[in-house]
Amino acid sequence: MAEVTFGLDRNTQSIKHISEVQSGLSCNCNCIQCGKAIKAAKGQVQEHHFKHHELSDCTASFESVLHLTAKKIIQNGCLFNTGANGVISYSASELEKVDGVYRYDAFITTPDKSIAIEIVVTNQLSQSKYDYIRLIKQRCIQIDLQEVDRNINYDDLEKLVLANASCKRTIWWDGESQVTISNDSSSDQAYWLLLLPLALLYKPLRKFVFKLFE
Ligand SMILES: [Zn+2]
Repeated sequence: MAEVTFGLDRNTQSIKHISEVQSGLSCNCNCIQCGKAIKAAKGQVQEHHFKHHELSDCTASFESVLHLTAKKIIQNGCLFNTGANGVISYSASELEKVDGVYRYDAFITTPDKSIAIEIVVTNQLSQSKYDYIRLIKQRCIQIDLQEVDRNINYDDLEKLVLANASCKRTIWWDGESQVTISNDSSSDQAYWLLLLPLALLYKPLRKFVFKLFE
């Protein structure tokens, strides 16, 4: 786990990269993950990073804070490059939205579209969630941040999340006529086809059914 390089400015609530702040507690930042005070360690030996001011059991790492920062960027944005389906403008966003079965990192909405966004830093989209999104035909874009440079600053991360096309992968989008289940087992597929109509109708059952595939 690499060190944390983003903090939340206590006064403005904007996200600051370690390169933008003064050393020590003068950085005036809180941890994006737990909200507690952090200080900037900007010495000669280690890579510059944030650390908690007081002893903490917070598990914030470069990866977890990158994920949180990317979500905030989506929340603050209004234009999103979907990759294969071009740039869309959106008027509203919701983070950590639950649709009855799964939680999504973000949902952005336009007058006629709702698009789920999944951000991958360390945890891949599970196969069952991938299959579910495609079966219910939910427009969904995955942002791949696995290879992001550890020294990336806020502006470059914002460009990557909102404007870059090559880190985006379409999970499902309008116009795909044939949706296949990528599960290898044909008996599992039969099970899906049997239970899916019921599962889509009844939310508690949906939860149960999709738990089986976790
Ligand atoms: Zn923390």
